[in-house]
Amino acid sequence: MTSAPRYRPAWVEVDLEAVRHNAALLARLVAPARLCAVVKADAYGHGAPEVAMAAAEGGASLVAVALVEEGVALRAAGVEGEVLLLSEPPPSAMEEVVRRRLTPTLYRHDAIAATARAAKAAGRRVRVQLKVDTGMHRVGADPGALLELARAVLAAPELELAGLWTHLAVAEDPHDPFTDEQLARFEKASRELAGAGIEPGTLHAANSAGAIAHPGARYDLVRCGIALYGHLPSPALAGHLAAALGSLEAAGARPAGAAGASEPGRVEGLRPVLSWKAQVHLVRHLEAGERPSYGRTYELARPGMIGVVPVGYHDGVPRAYGRAGGEVLIGGKRRKLAGTVTMDQVLVDLGDDCSVRPGDEVVLIGRQGAEEITVPEWAERLGTIPHEVLCGIGPRVPRRYLDRPG
Ligand SMILES: *Cc1c(COP(=O)(O)O)cnc(C)c1O
Repeated sequence: MTSAPRYRPAWVEVDLEAVRHNAALLARLVAPARLCAVVKADAYGHGAPEVAMAAAEGGASLVAVALVEEGVALRAAGVEGEVLLLSEPPPSAMEEVVRRRLTPTLYRHDAIAATARAAKAAGRRVRVQLKVDTGMHRVGADPGALLELARAVLAAPELELAGLWTHLAVAEDPHDPFTDEQLARFEKASRELAGAGIEPGTLHAANSAGAIAHPGARYDLVRCGIALYGHLPSPALAGHLAAALGSLEAAGARPAGAAGASEPGRVEGLRPVLSWKAQVHLVRHLEAGERPSYGRTYELARPGMIGVVPVGYHDGVPRAYGRAGGEVLIGGKRRKLAGTVTMDQVLVDLGDDCSVRPGDEVVLIGRQGAEEITVPEWAERLGTIPHEVLCGIGPRVPRRYLDRPG
């Protein structure tokens, strides 16, 4: 996508075939519910238009983003399918929302009125969804306000109520009973509309964790982000995913587009989509007792080699990753970061290995030979979730798209 020349040897590789595989797998897992591919935050740093198109090819029915701006960018890049906005746009944005055929999520009367006005001005009927807060307490209408909001939507002939949804707060903990509590509140809200003769349209509640670990949360649609990118939201869900794959195997299902990639009857799990690579910029020899980088916090116990890698905290290697014992792969081996991560570079302890040369491949995330550094490994070291690691890879790192091999 990038036309400006890039000189720094650091890049992200995005495997679009893996996106298709993951979308196809998730779509099968949750069927008859449909799959919404969550591509907010530039598809968690993977590139929203590319991921949106690959996810649709894999079997996603629609995509979701957080901001009007993100929806506009998808349309400008040629994405044609339904785009759901996960937060209520400001009333001043509704003309743009209507013009770009985005589906707004609404939970306040002024936003409903603004959408109706914009729809009327455009002479078009606009699909909208209502969001009810069942315990996340971030955005969405109070359950007690929902019926009046739905009546307001129905009272506007320009608006079509296309969905009712909520968001789960603890779905990544399969044992937390609050998910069931939220689902009960959601179903109560939906029954209340039905009782008033209002058809709420598509019902949805699940993010990736909900889709994988809580079959009762799938309803008509699931909204998957992190799983689409090939990662579990939490290691606690590994057993749930394995069980779900097992039931697909038992049903004789095969993931689409994986011909030849899997043994007969075996369903391949999620494939990581993103790798992060660079090349060694410089190699230098330092004496014992030298302390490279800011603050001089890291001391070489013995004389040894240091590699300089041209990515830093602006690019998404947090200073905390160095302090937490973060590693990269060079020459098929794990190497520790040496000293403080800087804005544009990290230093790597190569020990007594004199074989590393400028230009050698560095893997920050992904495979090299038999070794692999995963997004969950980063997340664990940093005390965060895979989402934040992926979103943290900065816009200064160019994305390269890998497609069907050959
Ligand atoms: C980000 C988001 C999702 C996707 O969450 P994942 O954990 O990445 O699957 C789903 N729904 C809403 C409302 C979100 O904001």
